[in-house]
Amino acid sequence: MQRYFVSAEQFSEHAVVITGDDARHIGKVMRGKPGDKLIVSDGSSREALVAIDSIETGEVKATILEPLVMDREARLNVTVAQSLPKGDKMETVIQRCTEIGAVSFVPFLSERTIVQYDAKKEGKRLERWRKIAKEAAEQSHRNRIPTVEQPLSWKGLLSSFGDYDLVCYCYEKEDGKQIRDVLKPFVEQLGPDAGANVLIVVGPEGGFSEKETAQADEAGAISVGLGKRILRAETAGMVALTCVLYESGEMGGM
Ligand code: SAH
Repeated sequence: MQRYFVSAEQFSEHAVVITGDDARHIGKVMRGKPGDKLIVSDGSSREALVAIDSIETGEVKATILEPLVMDREARLNVTVAQSLPKGDKMETVIQRCTEIGAVSFVPFLSERTIVQYDAKKEGKRLERWRKIAKEAAEQSHRNRIPTVEQPLSWKGLLSSFGDYDLVCYCYEKEDGKQIRDVLKPFVEQLGPDAGANVLIVVGPEGGFSEKETAQADEAGAISVGLGKRILRAETAGMVALTCVLYESGEMGGM
């Protein structure tokens, strides 16, 4: 069934109003008609099965049939910080990592980031990334839409490390600790039901410089390997995120 995210104000006790692009999508793309059922979520606490009452340009009114409570969110809140990759690869990272279960994305600029970052176009790009997160969250039946933060400088990213319970930066030259060596004890010490905030940091196509890895170590991050093969920048985040969720029992076994 088709799902849509709306803001909390669009929900009233027995009804919901869907506006903007989503309303157009229901009318034009899905060719919705009165009586059709949809799932509507406010992205945090309310989610409901609804039936369409009326469809007008830019506005769909629907009646709530029943509240839904299925929680599809992961126990660990994983943020993916990605040094801006070339072309539209950041979009791929956001789309795929939303499907997998990331709660937030932090693009950042580091020494070897190849792309030029045009501050003037920033608003548009950010808007597009947020739209991609919303659509991917709808697609994969998430209860919440991951946030996409304003791109940070490397320094800005370093100073955010204190906000997390665990920060791992993916480093292909790390031949000691692989990601599981760090995650397994971390999850064990958390206990079966506790949540935690985990930050995964992925470098650009050219990798991190030694200066950057030293700064990350100093700021409290742990360097982790993702196996012996070198992954593309846009693949590494998906792999690391999947490893974290697997290790925390998200794919069974706990
Ligand atoms: N230019 C480097 C590879 C960079 S890969 C080289 O050719 O050696 C881009 C980013 O993906 C890296 O900064 C790192 O964060 C991540 N990455 C890729 N493969 C990895 C691996 N095997 N272990 C850990 N991190 C990896």
